[in-house]
Amino acid sequence: MKQYDFVIVGAGLFGAVFAHEANKRGKKCLVIDKRTHLGGNIYCEEIEGINVHKYGAHIFHTNDKAIWDYVNSFVEFNRYTNSPLANFEGELYNLPFNMNTFYQLWKVKTPQEAQDKINEQVAASGITDPQNLEEQAISLVGTDIYHKLIKGYTEKQWGRKATELPAFIIKRLPLRFTFDNNYFNDKYQGIPIGGYNKLTEGLLKGIEVKTSTDFFANREAFQAIADKIVFTGHIDEYYDYCFGKLEYRSLRFENEVLDQENYQGNAVVNYTEADIPFTRIIEHKHFEFGKQSKTVVTKEYPCEWDSGMEAYYPINDDKNTEMFKRYRTLASEEKEVIFGGRLAEYKYYDMHQVVASALVRVKSIFG
Ligand code: FAD
Repeated sequence: MKQYDFVIVGAGLFGAVFAHEANKRGKKCLVIDKRTHLGGNIYCEEIEGINVHKYGAHIFHTNDKAIWDYVNSFVEFNRYTNSPLANFEGELYNLPFNMNTFYQLWKVKTPQEAQDKINEQVAASGITDPQNLEEQAISLVGTDIYHKLIKGYTEKQWGRKATELPAFIIKRLPLRFTFDNNYFNDKYQGIPIGGYNKLTEGLLKGIEVKTSTDFFANREAFQAIADKIVFTGHIDEYYDYCFGKLEYRSLRFENEVLDQENYQGNAVVNYTEADIPFTRIIEHKHFEFGKQSKTVVTKEYPCEWDSGMEAYYPINDDKNTEMFKRYRTLASEEKEVIFGGRLAEYKYYDMHQVVASALVRVKSIFG
């Protein structure tokens, strides 16, 4: 009999949920992570008594009551509602695009006036068969919303001109003809009271963990001590990049402690013009209605990804999708390794989706 039933590689949400559920069923688990902390991308670093979302702003949202109840069973969530703003050339606009935005753009006061304005601009563009992201966006929302609130932001995000990006990236651009700044349509949303680390601690309570421990530094040894490996790292790295390297977009974060209580009055302000190199400023204390005397703000700069950098957004174009499929075929033949989470599945997952996916996997294994 081996020392562990499972060695779980990665202490992010997928690994932590899997470990919790396996442990609950009497299985012996060891969770390792190459980072110096647990939690993966939901980790919060405390600065000036404020929980700073180290790997980008995280807002939990879901329509699934079971998932909401599940995460709330480890830590109570607050009633934070995401209502981001956009700053374009010094003017502020509400997001998502709603009657407040339309009033700020055109001074229109009724849904009909707003709809007429958009229809007029869409018709004037003459675009019937969009060939790129720019044409696609204009054909959905017209020129004003596109130029002020979409173009610069999207080009910074992807590092490419909107005319060089494929139309499929934007499938829909929801327009809301009510005065409602709540970004998500989901029934439940919030932030764990006390920060996301509480959620991770709750999930991993009583389970053996080792941080600063890279699976690949000691691969054979980990395989030797466990019946099964749950792998939530990079799938291409697992197979020694035999089909090539899967590509990502990355982000660079610049934190600043400011000696003032309130910098921007909102957690999230997007900067939608091309000339400002960051895409947004996050003021973390507002996620938890903080009243500390200082504040911490983070500027978020999208950037090219290279080995050694944090991989944030998979680039699901044809080349990478084909490459991933080849890795997935190898993975499906493994008997003793379970692959899951955003890096092993080369997929953008929201938190509620990764929790759900780990629970589905648990069910398929333990019944
Ligand atoms: P991760 O959290 O990345 O965990 C994987 C872990 O594996 C990492 O800790 C890594 O260090 C470890 N690992 C990898 N390789 C090895 C190795 N060789 N050895 C040991 N350990 C290894 N979701 C939302 O619902 N709302 C949001 O507002 C939101 N905002 C986001 C903002 C940004 C910028 C990003 C990038 C994502 C956001 N998400 C959001 C998505 C959310 O971060 C993910 O759903 C979630 O973190 C995925 O968990 P995971 O366990 O799959 O991956």
